[in-house]
Amino acid sequence: ARSSRAAYPALARTAAPLSQRRTFINGSEDYGKHVFKGAVADSYLAKQGLPAGLLDDPSWTRTSADKVAAAVMSWAHDMGAGVITHWFQPMACNGVRHGMSGQVQNAMFVFDKDGKPKWELEGKTIFQGETDGSSFPNGGMRATHTAGGYTIIDPTSPIFLRGDTVFIPTIFVSFYGDALDEKTPLLRATKAVSTQATRLLKLMGYSVDKVFPNIGLEQEFFFVPRKDYYRRPDLQLTGRTIMGKNAPRGQEMSDHYMSAINPVAMACMQEIQHECFMMGIPLKTRHREVAPNQYEFAPFFGTATTQIDQNLVVMQICDEVAARHGLACLAQEKPFKDVNGSGKHNNISLGTNTGVNLLNPKQLAKASGSHEIFPVLMAAMVRSVDLHGDLMRMAIASPGNDFRLGAMEAPPAVISTYLGDDITQYLEEFKSTKTAKEYVAASKVVDLGLEEIAPFSMPAEDRNRTSPFPYGGHRFEFRAVGSSQNVSLVNTVLCSIWADSFAYFADQIEAGKSPVDVAAEALDKHWRVIFNGNGYDESWPIEAEKRGIWRIDSGVESILRFSDPKNIALFEKLGVFNEKECKARTEVLLDHYSGFVEMEAATMIDMMKQHVLPAVLAADLDPKYAADIRAACAAVEAGLHKMHVVSDSASKARVARELRLETMDQARTVCDKAEGEVPADLWTLATYKELLFLDSHQGSDATDY
Ligand code: ADP
Ligand code: MG
Repeated sequence: ARSSRAAYPALARTAAPLSQRRTFINGSEDYGKHVFKGAVADSYLAKQGLPAGLLDDPSWTRTSADKVAAAVMSWAHDMGAGVITHWFQPMACNGVRHGMSGQVQNAMFVFDKDGKPKWELEGKTIFQGETDGSSFPNGGMRATHTAGGYTIIDPTSPIFLRGDTVFIPTIFVSFYGDALDEKTPLLRATKAVSTQATRLLKLMGYSVDKVFPNIGLEQEFFFVPRKDYYRRPDLQLTGRTIMGKNAPRGQEMSDHYMSAINPVAMACMQEIQHECFMMGIPLKTRHREVAPNQYEFAPFFGTATTQIDQNLVVMQICDEVAARHGLACLAQEKPFKDVNGSGKHNNISLGTNTGVNLLNPKQLAKASGSHEIFPVLMAAMVRSVDLHGDLMRMAIASPGNDFRLGAMEAPPAVISTYLGDDITQYLEEFKSTKTAKEYVAASKVVDLGLEEIAPFSMPAEDRNRTSPFPYGGHRFEFRAVGSSQNVSLVNTVLCSIWADSFAYFADQIEAGKSPVDVAAEALDKHWRVIFNGNGYDESWPIEAEKRGIWRIDSGVESILRFSDPKNIALFEKLGVFNEKECKARTEVLLDHYSGFVEMEAATMIDMMKQHVLPAVLAADLDPKYAADIRAACAAVEAGLHKMHVVSDSASKARVARELRLETMDQARTVCDKAEGEVPADLWTLATYKELLFLDSHQGSDATDY
C-alpha cells in the first residue's frame, strides 16, 4: 500500500490552500473564457466586421462561415490552441466512463509556397467534415464498405475549447442522410415540438415564433480512491462492482446525504467547477448524496442541446480531474449492490423565444393574457405520458438502470406522473366545470412560535421523489434517468410525445372543437396516469397494472417498444425517426445491452478464477467454498456460451438479461460469502469498505485503515 504514495504525486495539488488555487469563486472573470459565445465571440467577430450577437441566429453557418472561422482561428491562437475537431455523439453512447463522444483532432495548419506551416481555418472546415464512420454502431443502416460518415456543425450549441483543441459540436449522419448519432433526432424532435406548440398556442390566441426545451441535468456519481479502483477489474472495465460483500456500515444512519464534503472530494469538486466555469458550464449546486462517497452536481438550466453537450463534458471532466486527485469518478447507475445508485434527473420545461416558461402558470397567463393555455398544455402532457409511457421507459433502458429502477431508491418501472394535490384539484375542477380559472399556487405561512424565528411561507405543495415524472412547480422532472446516459434520447422522446399531443389538440381545435373541451376530454381519458401517492409502495405496481398504465420491468422488453408500430408511426409523422432508423436503433440498443453483459460476465469469470478462488484456496477454507465457486463460474461460462449461440439480437439480449440478473447474481452470492471468510491480507480485490468509506482527510493517500 505504501507504494501508492509515489504513484499519485499529483495529490500534492490538493494540498495547496484554497487561497492559492484559482477557483470559480475568486476567478469569476474566467467564466466563459473557453467558450466561443457572447462577449468573448463578439470581440473576435468585430475584428472580422461581423455584428455582435451574430451567433445567436443559426443562419450564420450559411452566410458568414468563413469570417466566423477566421474569428475562431484568432481566438484559438490567442488562447494557445491550434487544433480543431468536429465533436459528435455516436448512437447509444451512454458510456460507463464519461459518455462516449466522437472526435478526430486536426492541426489547423496549411503550408505556404515556401513550405512553411501557416495557421489557417476555413469556413468549410468548421461547417462540415467527412470521416470513416464504419466502426460506430449503425444497426445495419450501413455496410462496412460504405463507411462514409458526415459531421455537420450544430450551431445551437457553442464552440468550446479544451487545452490546445477547439471543439465544434456537430451532428453525425450517413451518406444517405440517416442519423447515426444522438443529436440529429433531438434536433428534429426539438423542431417538432416547436412547430406543434406554436401552432396550438396560436389557435388559443397566443403567438410566439419558437418554443424550445430547457433542461437542467442533476448529475450523481461516486468518488472512490483510485488505488482501490485499480484493484477492481469490474469497476475499470464495466463501471460497476460485479461482486463485493457489503460493508458492515451502509446507509443505516442516513448520515451521508448533504453532509459536509470531505476535503479531498471538495478540492476535486472545486477544480471541476472551475474548469466547467471557464467553458461556460454553470455548475451551480454541489452536495453529497445518499450513499457513502456519492456526490452530485447540478448546473443552471439551459437549452437542451447545449445542456446535453455540456453534461458530456462534465462527465469527462469529472473523470479526468478525479484522477488528478487520486480518485476515480463512477457515473454508472448501480456501481454497488445494496447501496443507492446514481441517477441523472432530467428537469425540463418549454420556453418561448420571448423568454416565457410555458410551465409557469403565472408567467404564461401574464404573457398571453389567458388562463386557458396552462390547463390545456398540462392536459396534453398528461395524455403524452399515458399514451407513450413505453417510450419514456425505453429511453431510460440503460444496462445499469436494470438494477436501479424499483429498488426503493429510484422510481419503479411504472411510468406515471405526479402533479401534486394542488394542480390535480385545479385540473379536476377544470375538467368538470369546463372553465379555466386562474391558477394560484397555494402557499402557507408557518409560525413556529419562536421569537427568534420569523414566520415564513412555503408552497402548500410537497415534493414527491417516488414518481418517475413529477411536476415541480415550473418544470417536470424525469427522475428515473440513469447517471451514465447521454440524455439526448430521453429528450427526443419527451419532445416527440409532447409534440404529438399538441398536434392532436390542434387538429381537433382546427376541426371546430373548443380547446377547453379538447383538454377536458383528454384529461378524462388519461386521468389514470396521474399518481400522487408513494411510488415505492409495493402495492403501486399492482394498482398501476389494474389502471392499465405502462409498466415494463425489463429494460430489454422496453427497448423493443422502439420498433412497435404505434411508435414508428409517431416518430415518422413528426419527422424524428423514419422506420429504418427506429429499427436500426432498436438493434443498436439491444446490442449495446448484450455487449455490456458480455463484458460483465467475462470480467466476473476472470475475477472468480484469478482472485476469488486463489484467495479461498490460500485461506485454506472448507473445500465446499472452492467447489461452490468453481460451480458458479461454470454456470456463468455456460450462460455466456448460451448468449453466443443465439443469433437474433432480441433473444440474445433476453438471454443476457437472465444471465445477469439470475446466474451472475447467484454467483455473486457465493463470492460474497467467501469474501466474508477470507482473512483481509489474502483478499486481493478492493472491498466495499475500502471503496466507500475511505473518506478521511488523507483521501486516497491514506494507507492505514
Ligand atoms: P432539486 O433540489 O429539485 O433536486 P437542484 O437544484 O438539485 O434541485 O436541481 C434542479 C435542476 O433543475 C437544476 O439544474 C435547475 O437549473 C433545473 N431547473 C430549474 N428550473 C427549471 C426549469 N424551469 N426548466 C428546466 N430546468 C429547470
Ligand atoms: Mg438535486
